[in-house]
Amino acid sequence: MTPRIIVAGGGPVGMALACALPGCEVRVIEAAPVRTQPLPEEFDVRVLALSPGTRAFLRELGVWEGLDADRIAPVRRMEVFGDGGARLEFSARPGAALAWIVEAGRLGGALEARAGALSHVVVTRGAKAVAFGADAQGAWAELESGERIEGDLLVGADGPDSKVRALLGIPFEERPYGEAALVANFETEVAAGEVARQWFRADGVLAWLPLPGRRMSIVWSAPIARADGLEGLDALALAEQVAEAGGRILGAMRLDSAVARFPLRWVRVARPVAPGVALVGDAAHAVHPLAGQGVNLGFQDARALARAIAGRSPLERPGDLRVVRRYARERREDVAAMQFATDGLDRLFATGKPGAYALRNLGLGWVQALPWARNALARRAMR
Ligand SMILES: Cc1cc2nc3c(=O)[nH]c(=O)nc-3n(C[C@H](O)[C@H](O)[C@H](O)COP(=O)(O)OP(=O)(O)OC[C@H]3O[C@@H](n4cnc5c(N)ncnc54)[C@H](O)[C@@H]3O)c2cc1C
Repeated sequence: MTPRIIVAGGGPVGMALACALPGCEVRVIEAAPVRTQPLPEEFDVRVLALSPGTRAFLRELGVWEGLDADRIAPVRRMEVFGDGGARLEFSARPGAALAWIVEAGRLGGALEARAGALSHVVVTRGAKAVAFGADAQGAWAELESGERIEGDLLVGADGPDSKVRALLGIPFEERPYGEAALVANFETEVAAGEVARQWFRADGVLAWLPLPGRRMSIVWSAPIARADGLEGLDALALAEQVAEAGGRILGAMRLDSAVARFPLRWVRVARPVAPGVALVGDAAHAVHPLAGQGVNLGFQDARALARAIAGRSPLERPGDLRVVRRYARERREDVAAMQFATDGLDRLFATGKPGAYALRNLGLGWVQALPWARNALARRAMR
């Protein structure tokens, strides 16, 4: 019998997993009734830096081709600055890219269009799941409408507040960063030129991500009071602060979008699996956006879980603990390393604690001076 997989959550990770399971019948349940459609002429205020590993996966799924290549900005070089003059740079090999900046809304649209075209996937929108159950024999989800869906495996792809995690009692640790991320797009006097830039400052971490043409997107992760202050500025004053924080290297700026705000927190799940259930994406780990790696980790979860399900023996069911544990084992090191690195960088470099100024500037200088450390960072960023 064809295995039935219930995916709770139709965000990027849940949709990618559904596309990656051609040997199964997959039902994706998504609470939001409609996908917010970005306006054709505007750049989405949410963008994602996608790694080469993610691009390879999206190509395997036939999703990458569904994106408009003219709206994607490759990142060939990364420049990281301290606020005391320290600087760290790394570049991709000739012809390669460290990452690609893609609009989140358009990526979601391409994933959903691909899932909708596949005969093994059914996506149900406007369907909030309110109860779940799972054991080695099978899994179920109950929707707000009263509908009950049965399957062999339940996948929690329902984001950092995962209801699957909560209702199935999967232990997790959570800690707010006491920071919020502001994101917005700007028109710049000078084109960013396929370079991403990041500043570690006393008032948080500011990233400038290139967009096609003379545009860029920012993520400013700042302590709450500073984020409140930035959010309260009018368009001119905000553009001035952003330009000033980056030493005006792209000249004058003009705000070109709304400003969106996201609270930041750390979520760690030591064992993201149990009989009949697996967590993927932000449901399994939430990381600080300073490394731009959250959804990249999630896509690799989806790839690994799909592989564990497809590679099971004829005697194993998809929800068997042995099967889902193979997935968890494959992802453990990568997720732990990324959580350790992003959390450590945030604690060490991006705070107003005594010593942080010297540390972030000395630290960047040391890494710049050590080719092996620079290469290790570039290699990790490119996975
Ligand atoms: C400011 C910022 C910048 C970022 N930049 C980057 C970046 O550059 N690169 C990168 O890799 N990552 C980045 N990230 C992280 C990235 O956004 C997340 O890792 C990613 O969105 C997680 O995807 P997901 O599918 O796991 O969860 P989500 O995107 O949270 O999707 C979960 C889905 O589940 C649905 N859902 C929830 N509960 C239910 C329910 N009960 N029933 C049915 N459906 C439900 C929700 O409606 C939602 O659609 C950034 C994050 C932030 C905050």
